[in-house]
Amino acid sequence: MAPQVKDNITALKKAQEIDREIYLAQEQLKEIPEEIARLKQELEVEKGHLKELDGVLKKLQLAQKQKEGELAQKEANVKKLDGQLSQVKTNKEYSALQQEIASLKADNSLLEEEIIRLLDEIEAAHEEVRKESERLKQCEKEFSGKEAQLSQKQKELQGNAEKLKSEREQFVSQVLPEIRSLYETVIQKKSGIALAKVNGENCGACQIKLRPQLVNEILMGQNVVLCESCSRILYVEE
Ligand SMILES: [Zn+2]
Repeated sequence: MAPQVKDNITALKKAQEIDREIYLAQEQLKEIPEEIARLKQELEVEKGHLKELDGVLKKLQLAQKQKEGELAQKEANVKKLDGQLSQVKTNKEYSALQQEIASLKADNSLLEEEIIRLLDEIEAAHEEVRKESERLKQCEKEFSGKEAQLSQKQKELQGNAEKLKSEREQFVSQVLPEIRSLYETVIQKKSGIALAKVNGENCGACQIKLRPQLVNEILMGQNVVLCESCSRILYVEE
């Protein structure tokens, strides 16, 4: 290799090691907001569940109120009819009234049973709401903890990436501007790996068999040579 291209490759190999680390740190950084959003979503599901259970409880309480209103009205009716018993003139009227009272009382005892059943259901629903509230509190606590951990990780990764960026600078600054610009473009497009070592006759990155003419060109070291398949910068280990 001509000294210039060879020296450039040597510097790029050092930059490449650091750039791969930067790339991986950036990938991890991208995942953090996604992870936080996912955890938030889980928390929202839990909140929705509590709201649902609360809705069930409210509905039962409303039904209880309605049934109690109904019962009070029917009990008042019984009282009213009881009062009328002493005023009726005929036996026929009397027994008709008695029948009406008996039927109302039967309705009322059914209503009372329904109310008791509702009260049991309300108690159970209260318990469900209480348990879910506790679960939600626990989930919120866990979420805060995880969020804080992720923010901390984010800070560390960002700090590390900044440090690595200044480290790579000392290597890429030794490279010719046109080669550097090529390297930067390839590294952006190729998941943080811009250099590919030639393995025998193959590209070490994409494994394609290289044309012999291309391998010769790399060995001559006059120019920077790119893999025709993956477009990475090829080099031979000496
Ligand atoms: Zn390749």
